[in-house]
Amino acid sequence: MNNVVIIGSGHAGGQCAITLRNAKFDGSITIIGEENYPPYQRPPLSKGFLSGEVDINRVYLKKDEFYKDNNISLMINSKVTDIDKDSKIITLENNQEIQYTNLVLATGSRVRKLDVEGITLKNIGYLRDIDDVNALKPYLIKDANIAIVGAGYIGLEVAAIASKIGANVTVIEMANRVMNRTVDPLISSYYHKLHERKGVKILLNTSLDSFEGNTKVEYVICSDGSKIKADAAIIGAGIIPNTELAQQAGIDCENGILVNEFCETNIKNIFACGDCTNHPNKLLNKRLRLESVHNALEQAKTVSYNILNEKIAYNQIPWFWSDQYDHKLQIVGISGDHDEVIMRGSKKDENFILFYLKKNKLIACNAVNNPKEFLICKKLVANQVKISSDELSNQTLNLSEIV
Ligand code: FAD
Repeated sequence: MNNVVIIGSGHAGGQCAITLRNAKFDGSITIIGEENYPPYQRPPLSKGFLSGEVDINRVYLKKDEFYKDNNISLMINSKVTDIDKDSKIITLENNQEIQYTNLVLATGSRVRKLDVEGITLKNIGYLRDIDDVNALKPYLIKDANIAIVGAGYIGLEVAAIASKIGANVTVIEMANRVMNRTVDPLISSYYHKLHERKGVKILLNTSLDSFEGNTKVEYVICSDGSKIKADAAIIGAGIIPNTELAQQAGIDCENGILVNEFCETNIKNIFACGDCTNHPNKLLNKRLRLESVHNALEQAKTVSYNILNEKIAYNQIPWFWSDQYDHKLQIVGISGDHDEVIMRGSKKDENFILFYLKKNKLIACNAVNNPKEFLICKKLVANQVKISSDELSNQTLNLSEIV
């Protein structure tokens, strides 16, 4: 009997089990997850679920019955503490041992925690899981003073929701622009202005020094000595891949669990998928560690097909999205080493696409409020089309004609 054991009940772990069963895999499947919930989607945690517009049942990947009906053993609230790759046995925190034929590491990532004075005060939190949202929600109320540390996607999505609720929001960012790790300065300035129009105060070039208060946070102290009044503080300072378990087992890791294009680790019958991996991308000609739903889902499928002996390489152009207020940002490909940027549409109309070209080849697009053309952008970037700047900026030309 082929026993597949999946460590991690996140998006990747859940999808791996779903794909296996959809493909009529008839061995046993066990998902082991440290959290107390069945596999769920994290994007709504900083969007609809945080604002209260999306119900918890819509956050789960599948209803409970799915796991029962498909004979998937779901062990939640269970942590794997050891992998014995020679005897193919994993051990849980409660010393229970489980034998596997194929092991899938879908251990994801965890928030980067800050070690500053006052960090243990009440009402200071991070945002990674359902429990974090439940802890945060009571503080997101009208007129509350909310401080957000970090102007990345998560910090800004929370800022948008808090400001819509009527809270007084201040975002502290050590870089000189928002979302500086992931988007172009033009997109940063567009979103900066959008937040300011909505009443959010953004402090750039400003580092967190410490938190002050009696039992709960009352002030955020910045490195320039300034004090921000805060009833609650949310920290969005990035994530760290969960690789310790793999490392202990002798699996090669370097900024993530190292896998090949088939999501195989250096140990036979041990695979990895999702946020925890560092994987090659032939289309981009480099190794990547991604933090995105698309990557988690597609790598999980690659692992499943591989277990089913259908070796299909994972070679896809990454894409991502972020929702702030009613503005949708969608990104495909990786910009940075482009030599030309073309804009289609206009910032004034709040609807535009930035095309990034390298030697006339399209390598990435950032679309704001244009999901329809973004679908075409995904195809254009995947095909690395050679295209002139005139064609791209000409809005009378239908993008689909270029595909
Ligand atoms: P995870 O979701 O991290 O799941 C891993 C699971 O493994 C965790 O539950 C963890 O507890 C468990 N685990 C780890 N070690 C063990 C162990 N030893 N034993 C048992 N269990 C273990 N991406 C987008 O593309 N678009 C978005 O808009 C977007 N928004 C996001 C908003 C938020 C608030 C967050 C936190 C993330 C967002 N992301 C978004 C990123 C996306 O959700 C992640 O890339 C995706 O969840 C990764 O899935 P994963 O299964 O690899 O890892």
